[in-house]
Amino acid sequence: MKLASTAIGYPYIGGNREWKRCVESFWKGEKSEEAFIFEMKTIRLNHLKHQQSLGLDILTVGDFTFYDRMLDLATMFGLIPARYKWTGEKVNLRTYYSMARGVDDVVASEMTKWFNTNYHYIVPEYEDQPLRLTQNYLLDYFLEAKFELGLITKPTIIGPYTFVQLSKGYDSISKASFILRLLPLYVQVLQQLVDAGAQWIQVEEPALVLSLAPEDIKLVQQIYKQLAEEVPAAKLMLQTYFEGLSAYEELIQLPVAGVGLDFIHGADQNMASLRKYGFPQDKVLGIGIINGRDIWRASLAEKAMMTKAILSLSGVQEAWVQSSCSLQHVPVTTKSEKTLDKTLLNALSFADEKVIELTHITSFVSDENWSGSKSVSQSIVAIQALEQHEARKNPRVKELLSQVRQEHFTRPMPFKERQPLQQEALQLPEFPTTTIGSFPQSEQVKRTRTAWRRSEITDTEYAEFLKSETARWIQIQEEIGLDVLVHGEFERTDMVEYFGEKLKGFAFTEKAWVVSYGSRCVKPPIIYGDVEWTSPMTVEEVAEAQELTSKYVKGMLTGPVTILNWSFVRDDLSREQVANQIALALKEEIQALESAGIAIIQVDEPALREGLPLRKEDWNEYLSWAVNAFKLATSSVRNETQIHTHMCYCEFNNFIEPIRALDADVISIETSRSHGELIQSLKQNPYELGIGLGVYDIHSPRIPSVEEIDTILKDSLEIISKEQFWVNPDCGLKTRNENETIASLKNMVTAARKLRQQQQQTVS
Ligand code: GLN
Ligand code: ZN
Repeated sequence: MKLASTAIGYPYIGGNREWKRCVESFWKGEKSEEAFIFEMKTIRLNHLKHQQSLGLDILTVGDFTFYDRMLDLATMFGLIPARYKWTGEKVNLRTYYSMARGVDDVVASEMTKWFNTNYHYIVPEYEDQPLRLTQNYLLDYFLEAKFELGLITKPTIIGPYTFVQLSKGYDSISKASFILRLLPLYVQVLQQLVDAGAQWIQVEEPALVLSLAPEDIKLVQQIYKQLAEEVPAAKLMLQTYFEGLSAYEELIQLPVAGVGLDFIHGADQNMASLRKYGFPQDKVLGIGIINGRDIWRASLAEKAMMTKAILSLSGVQEAWVQSSCSLQHVPVTTKSEKTLDKTLLNALSFADEKVIELTHITSFVSDENWSGSKSVSQSIVAIQALEQHEARKNPRVKELLSQVRQEHFTRPMPFKERQPLQQEALQLPEFPTTTIGSFPQSEQVKRTRTAWRRSEITDTEYAEFLKSETARWIQIQEEIGLDVLVHGEFERTDMVEYFGEKLKGFAFTEKAWVVSYGSRCVKPPIIYGDVEWTSPMTVEEVAEAQELTSKYVKGMLTGPVTILNWSFVRDDLSREQVANQIALALKEEIQALESAGIAIIQVDEPALREGLPLRKEDWNEYLSWAVNAFKLATSSVRNETQIHTHMCYCEFNNFIEPIRALDADVISIETSRSHGELIQSLKQNPYELGIGLGVYDIHSPRIPSVEEIDTILKDSLEIISKEQFWVNPDCGLKTRNENETIASLKNMVTAARKLRQQQQQTVS
């Protein structure tokens, strides 16, 4: 039995985000191209040396990128849209980064979620352009590792099926003929790697875990047959991850040298298939046994036993012990964390720690006495200590959860009956205007916050400043003529962090960054204990704002599902249970707002859709508890209290049902990128609750004219009635500047007033 440890990929950002800093200073022109290329190379090679020093057997190249690996492939194949005016030479950094970020008036390529992760890739665009190999950067990386470090590495490439599945623009030709045009390029890349001495090449095909139709399976068979025929010497490890394989029986028979399976997210399915169909004895099995998506330390005993079980079930001669997917989805190392609770810290495992876990498991398989090893007992002790942590034994949370009854998930009165009561109480005009919550976080706001964090100003000074900023914006909103006002969220940098810092059960790291897209990193909070509300989190800010105006000021909260989906979450409870804990905490905040006289409360759920499982057949289960968590948080209010919600980053096609199920009195949604589609789906699925279709795109500095807003309003009136019609921008305004914001909102209010007048004239 031959066994080796490997990672499907390793984070490229670096423990101190040196990758991010390097890229951004190049963009700013602070670094020459030469210096930039050199630093990137240093980062690449350091990461390889580091993984080697941790004891990993097979090292991977090609998991590194200058921005995004899908973009790397697109440029490698010459898939460059005409708008970048590329003339066919080697793709330079200017073109590469223009595709990623746009340049002057040329827009960037679209960006979208990488499967069900929070990473976003650049969508390749096919425009019928001639395809050719512009550069084989995998070969460059392979040779670099070979000559500089003397290492024979495993290059990794996103496979043809997944690449095409995630590209757009080939509608005029069939998917099969697009693949046919691409395959010769894959062949060249693979052949060059083989010629340079590559022993294994990892081909990542996460799209194979989706539900495959018979013709998809046929296509995949054709692809791999052709690759096998044309590059017979290439040893391909067909890597799947994020789920089990529905088409296991067919896919394991593909003519490749190895198949990698996810035994974390697809554990049940892949184990069942392994039992039923076995595994080809002439192939190497990639055993994805360490979770590449979570941050928790693994029980080495459990993992060793499971690996052994998989090995004996499969009966293979050779296997790899590996992460379930690339480790790019987890932070780099727990070693940088100096302030975390020790019990928590000890139970964490980031990329480096996961690599070490892989090496342990690999050595256990051939070691009779593995169970006596110190690392085995250490992992058990660490996990048990966290299980016993008092943060996980909060009696009040337990008590509150036990009191939850079916009726707490529904408002006592249906929308149709509460709507007149709310209108009676609130007396809002037709087409009420409002915003999504945040106002510009000016340089002064940021500077003052930094000063406060550094203790250069006192808590009171900071609070006074925030108060004055809110007061200033209340006045601005009144001058603009908005109907429902907001306090502006100046106290928040991040809509999840703000609440996490005030609720019990959350921990914040110093350096646990992961890439969200490009050079943008996020540092998700860790939900490790029971989530408990202890004191009001937003009441003071909102109530103070309310005192300054006779108009209504909306309370502003982040919803339970968004808090959950943008955090690292404990794994001893189901996600549903954690969502309900957060919901109960928010419910208390909502009650506090209501008691303070706040009549309209918005609970944002921009990440509701992000939590959807990969396969459609699993959607309902998720949606039912996710929607319930929102309702648990919001259903206990008075009939007259108006609950708003907001969503963005979302294709609303097929999503109207879940939105309706939230039973929010008003929803504002982002439509800038898919306005037409939304109107279409609303036509097909009539929606009766209050709704504000964002009337302008806040992502652009452009000031929309009254006329264009007017047109959008009139178009929208064809599908939504004036009783349900709200007017608002399509997302929060925190990234815009003050002048743009005021000018845009003025035009919005003018357009709404015009519509109001016209409607009254038609009535009279
Ligand atoms: N209320 C938040 C804001 O206005 C909503 C942010 C979001 O939708 N992502 O910033
Ligand atoms: Zn938004």
